[in-house]
Amino acid sequence: MIPRVRGTRDFLDLKLMNFTLETIKKHLKKYHFHEIMTPLLEPVALFKRSLGIETDVVSKEMFVVSSSSVEKGDEEICLRPEATASVVRAFVENGIQTVPWKVFLCGQMFRYERPQKGRYREFFQCSLEIIGAPSLMHDVQIITMLDRLFRSVFRLEVYALHINFLGCPTDRIAFKEQLGTFLDAHSTALCATCLKRRTTNILRVLDCKNPDCQKLYTQAPQLTDCLCTQCTSEWKSVQHRLEELSVPFVHMPRLVRGLDYYNKTVFEFVSPLLGAQSTFCGGGRYDHLVAQIGGKEDQPSVGAAIGIDRLILMLETMQDLLPIPFDSALFVIIPLSEEQHPLALQVADTLIHNGLHTELLIDGSLKAMMRKADKYGAKAVILIGTDEQSTGTVTVKTLQTGAESKIKQTDLAQYLKQG
Ligand code: ATP
Ligand code: MG
Repeated sequence: MIPRVRGTRDFLDLKLMNFTLETIKKHLKKYHFHEIMTPLLEPVALFKRSLGIETDVVSKEMFVVSSSSVEKGDEEICLRPEATASVVRAFVENGIQTVPWKVFLCGQMFRYERPQKGRYREFFQCSLEIIGAPSLMHDVQIITMLDRLFRSVFRLEVYALHINFLGCPTDRIAFKEQLGTFLDAHSTALCATCLKRRTTNILRVLDCKNPDCQKLYTQAPQLTDCLCTQCTSEWKSVQHRLEELSVPFVHMPRLVRGLDYYNKTVFEFVSPLLGAQSTFCGGGRYDHLVAQIGGKEDQPSVGAAIGIDRLILMLETMQDLLPIPFDSALFVIIPLSEEQHPLALQVADTLIHNGLHTELLIDGSLKAMMRKADKYGAKAVILIGTDEQSTGTVTVKTLQTGAESKIKQTDLAQYLKQG
């Protein structure tokens, strides 16, 4: 047997997955987002340019496609690790003129990570973006929309919304200098990763998982203390609007997020129910990505990605509370001998044409077929023997009560629909 690739999964029951995706899509459409699709394959250069070369995703987690059809000199291709860069590419490449462009896409992402609970190499995200959204009221609306989705629609209770404000590029230059001075003064206490990030991607030190570093950084300068006048007032306004809309949040001064393109608002939804991989949705503002990816003019934008796998891990524990649609009643047709096979095929064809959920059993003994119908949770079996064949009828046996009735073949669909 050749097993599946590490960090990938087979999904043998899609009920919860489909319910989750359908519910998210319905919610986003209410806010006038529309669904798009972009390729799973993208040029490596797209992510190097947008996420940043020194980010974990680009430096360690890329699935670069190796294929004989990729000839020397061709662009390098990868399986997409995230979707924001693809959406921005699609915006620029398709010459979209009407902004705000409010779109979302759901699908697989690929990252070469160590597989564990809530972390896979092939996983699902629903990525939503507003391209051309200069006002920070869009940030407030996206955050509110997500909070309503998780709390009111999915009825999740045990989670928190973490927010921080990264300011504009000028603010970050000032902050990086202050942070650098702080790190240099404590360089002997830093872990190896932080020492490296000090020179490669200094903001990311704040994200360090090492408890000693985290303890030290509680004394580090804070980004929100380095904001210019305009950013200070925007940060205040984001917080006020969220309060007015009764969206509970916590300011996390060291939240920076892993990708380089963010500025101003960044946020994460986290839940202790998820253990170590606690973030199930993350997002923020990216004002300079459109120009960076090749747009003629910049389009300030904001977006988020919902980690579908982690959301489903949370929903799994409370499936009974969710309005997951029931399968409609199943009817199982059982011909008693080979002679009735052609008639059984026709009866099945008629029932399906009438919109009934129908299974036709052919193989095995009558006893085995009855057992199978029971296992399927069928509402009734439709038995067709020589007698039924010659009189133009079928025998309908209701499984729960065992009651049997003879019904004319021409009346069967109507009879089952009413029952
Ligand atoms: P993490 O902190 O888990 O590494 P991240 O910062 O790399 O997350 P983002 O790039 O912000 O994640 O992606 C948004 C969301 O997608 C995450 O919050 C998470 O829910 C989900 N996600 C990211 N990587 C994975 C993965 N390997 N497996 C499953 N879900 C993932
Ligand atoms: Mg990650």
